[in-house]
Amino acid sequence: MKAKRCPFCHEYISVADYPQHQAKHLKLRPDGQHTDYVSLPEDERELGGLAGVPSVYVHRRCGVATGMPEDIIRSYLKNPFLYTAGRTFCHGCHTHVPDRECVWTETGEDLQSYFDGLRAAKSRSNKNVTILLYVIAILAGLAVAALI
Ligand SMILES: [Zn+2]
Ligand SMILES: [Zn+2]
Repeated sequence: MKAKRCPFCHEYISVADYPQHQAKHLKLRPDGQHTDYVSLPEDERELGGLAGVPSVYVHRRCGVATGMPEDIIRSYLKNPFLYTAGRTFCHGCHTHVPDRECVWTETGEDLQSYFDGLRAAKSRSNKNVTILLYVIAILAGLAVAALI
């Protein structure tokens, strides 16, 4: 039986049952939120302190503040490419609204710019890893040559 790991609850679900399973997570709650949201498995999330990391945003159109759940924060800090829909829940509007219409109360930056920044930083650090591996490869090559 082919199974996949559910990105909502991280249980292994058979591929055949998955669409029905996912529908349960996406079911709307009375307040308009989905029942569950995608996150990284707990052991893959950012584990460090969250000092200085913004967590409350205001939807500019309605002025209502919404808190970002910590499991979601710890997931996008590790993988900012997880949430590319560009929408987030607003407790004032009871629906998902564009990231660009929301600003962090802590920094005044809009969420779209913030996530773009996280994604750009992650792409840069991935490139650095590639360069580092390349340098290691060259050094290893030299060492081997010296041994011969
Ligand atoms: Zn699930
Ligand atoms: Zn709103």
